[in-house]
Amino acid sequence: MLLVVGLDGASYELCNRWMDEGYLPNLTHIRGRGAWMPLQSTIPAVSPVAWSTFMTGTNPGEHGVFGFFVPERPGPYEPPTRFRPISSYDCHGKRFWEQMNEAGLSTGIVGVPVTYPVRAVNGHMVAGLLAPMLEAPGTTYPAALAAEITAQVGPYRIVPRGVYVPGGEEAFLDEVHRSLELRRNLASYLLERHRCDVHLFVLYETDLVQHKMWQFMDEDHPRYNASKNRWHDAIRDVYVHADAIVGELMEELGSGDTLVVMSDHGAGPLYGTLHLNKWLREQGYLAYKTGWRQKLAWAASKWKIVQLSARISRQLGVNQRVTLRPGQRRTLASGFLRADDLDWAATRAYNMGYQGAIYTVGERHAETTQKLTEHLTEIRDLARDCRVVETVHTPAELYAGRLVDYAPSIILSLKKQAYNVSQKVFAPALFTLGADSGTHRRQGLLGVIGTGTKAIANTGEFHIQGMARLLLEIAEV
Ligand SMILES: [Zn+2]
Repeated sequence: MLLVVGLDGASYELCNRWMDEGYLPNLTHIRGRGAWMPLQSTIPAVSPVAWSTFMTGTNPGEHGVFGFFVPERPGPYEPPTRFRPISSYDCHGKRFWEQMNEAGLSTGIVGVPVTYPVRAVNGHMVAGLLAPMLEAPGTTYPAALAAEITAQVGPYRIVPRGVYVPGGEEAFLDEVHRSLELRRNLASYLLERHRCDVHLFVLYETDLVQHKMWQFMDEDHPRYNASKNRWHDAIRDVYVHADAIVGELMEELGSGDTLVVMSDHGAGPLYGTLHLNKWLREQGYLAYKTGWRQKLAWAASKWKIVQLSARISRQLGVNQRVTLRPGQRRTLASGFLRADDLDWAATRAYNMGYQGAIYTVGERHAETTQKLTEHLTEIRDLARDCRVVETVHTPAELYAGRLVDYAPSIILSLKKQAYNVSQKVFAPALFTLGADSGTHRRQGLLGVIGTGTKAIANTGEFHIQGMARLLLEIAEV
């Protein structure tokens, strides 16, 4: 049996620190007895891109997932008709578990982002981030598994419920641990009742808690407040909880079995959000229509509704708002950028990514890309007195494959990866510090213990694109 545990966003650096301090005995066991190394993520290091690369073993130019949202358009450089969250249909190429199924192995895949709607597998599947909710059609394979999970395991969540609001730390953390506990119960139920040759469980809580709680443990963070030391160890506590789950899974290993622990990217402090669409509008690249709906958006921004809603949508991973109509969900999902709010006759570029992914539009797109490349590096965070855009990448530099033309024309690397980018056109300032205090870093982790360790021994570092090949090798496919 091959067991794979994905700890979304788990940091190699934080793990090592807390292992050295004695908090993570099970991961420490893997480090001591197996293989343990940093895992480099994709550019951008966001979950949909990283997990799509993980599951297909190909780069974004081949699988076609470049971020959380996809602009629907007739072709590259054409104005989009709408923006929508990414789904499994957008990720092209064979998943490694499909190759395992073809070789006769059964697979149980739980919690992987971008697997909704699920496809049939030899075994079972529960979709992860970007699935609406467990009970929604397309979230589990077989379909009846959803009701079975609810009856046998409890109210399993795709992502923790509710919203983190400053002051609500206790309720937020209770829910994070409750959600983790349900994942642990689901894992043990599936291993007992639906055992497969290969199991993969992704725990999303490690990522979520870092986004929200970083400010409480990092004295250098602009929001650090020594009087709130009660939450100082909130992130560590979630790692400890995840480590206990890893330990339970490790107990399942028999001779010839392997356990792999990995993360899709790492984490670090967030110093600000750059409202890139606001900048593009101010620089004349993006034009907003001036109808009543758009005026309403202006007014709403004054009341901070826009910021709040965008924060909610980000918090929820763009789902869960099942009470909203699809159109409303999409608006929330894209952080209040709607394709039909933009004046496409006058728009030459727009951003559609949390780490900076600019799409250029129109016949003169190459010229626009060139101009932007020169000007983007001039953006300054005046509060911290620094330039924010570290590198302006072209897709040709980063990606290769048959879908590379659908990539954003410009992909940004922001200073020390400590900034996010929003979709908002009407933010109150070019930079703001929202509810999030942590964000992603490119360095995740990889640990292997058991028979499969020999497949990776003596490697100093690994890239997430090699994971599919590695797992196939361990499974002897
Ligand atoms: Zn992630």
